[in-house]
Amino acid sequence: MTSSFPGIVLVTGAASGIGAAAARRLADDGARALVLVDRDGDRLHSLGDDLERPGLELLLCAQDVSDENAWEGVEQGVRHHWRGLDGVVVNAGISESGAIADLSFEAWRRVLSVNLDGAFLTLRTGMRLLRDGGSAVVVSSASGVKAEAGIAAYAASKAATIQLAKVAAKEGAPRGVRVNTILPGGVETPMWSEMDFFKEMVAELGSEQAAFETIAAHGTPLGRYAKPEEIAGQIAFLLSPAARSMTGAGLIVDGGYTL
Ligand code: NAD
Repeated sequence: MTSSFPGIVLVTGAASGIGAAAARRLADDGARALVLVDRDGDRLHSLGDDLERPGLELLLCAQDVSDENAWEGVEQGVRHHWRGLDGVVVNAGISESGAIADLSFEAWRRVLSVNLDGAFLTLRTGMRLLRDGGSAVVVSSASGVKAEAGIAAYAASKAATIQLAKVAAKEGAPRGVRVNTILPGGVETPMWSEMDFFKEMVAELGSEQAAFETIAAHGTPLGRYAKPEEIAGQIAFLLSPAARSMTGAGLIVDGGYTL
C-alpha cells in the first residue's frame, strides 16, 4: 500500500500497540511533526526519545482523552506551533468484558467514557484544527459490527464511533476533509495482556504468541491476528493522497472474522 504523509499528525493512545506503531510509521514516512497523546506519560516520553530524529518535531501530551479541559491545552499548543493539523488518528481505547446481566454501570461508563467520549473530544479537536484537505482516521473495531457475547460496552462504543466518523465525513467534505474508520479484528497488542482469560491462556500455553495463535485459529478464517505495524500501514494509507477519494469508509482488517 503506498503512503507518504509529510504533514503534522495527532495520534491518541500513542504510547502502545497500534498508536505507537502508527507514530513510528508516520515518522518513517516523513511526517514533519507529531502530536502524541496518551495517559501513560512514562511510556509516551520513552516513545518520544525513540522517535527523535532531524526534521521531526514532537509535542507530547500526557493526558486522558476523556478530559475535555485537557483538549483546550492541546488545541492551543497546536495552534501556537503550527496553526493546524494535516492528520488525526483517533485511536486511544480500552476494553472490558462481562455479560450484560453482570456488567456494572461503572464499567459501562468507564469504557464509553474513553472509547466514545474520548473519540468525540479527539475528533472535535481534529475537526477544528484540520486544514482544508486534511484527514482523520478513527480506529474502531470489527466488534462494532459483529456481535459477540460478553463485550457489550466495548462493542456499543465501537459501533458508535463508526457513525460518529460518518457524520464527521459529511461535515468535513465541503472543505475536502476526509474521515475514515478502520475496523481491526484481533491485533497482537498489550490490550490483550490485561484480560483475565488471556492471562489464563498465556499461563497454560507458555507465551503470548501461542495464546494469540490459539485464539486466531478459532474464528479468524486466515488463522492469524494482525501485527500493529500492519494496521499502522493502513492508517498511513488512509491519511495519504492515495486515499483521496475515500471518505466515510470503513476498512475492515480482520482476517475474515466478520465474514
Ligand atoms: P493498547 O492497550 O496497546 O494501547 C492503547 C493505548 O491507549 C495505551 O497506550 C493507553 O495508555 C492509551 N489509553 C487508554 N485509555 C486512554 C485514555 N483515557 N486517555 C489517553 N490514552 C489512553 O491497545 P491497542 O490494541 O493498540 O488499541 C488501540 C485501539 O485499537 C483501541 O481503540 C482499540 O479498541 C482498537 N482495537 C484493538 C484491537 C486489538 O485486538 N488489539 C482490535 C480492534 C480494535
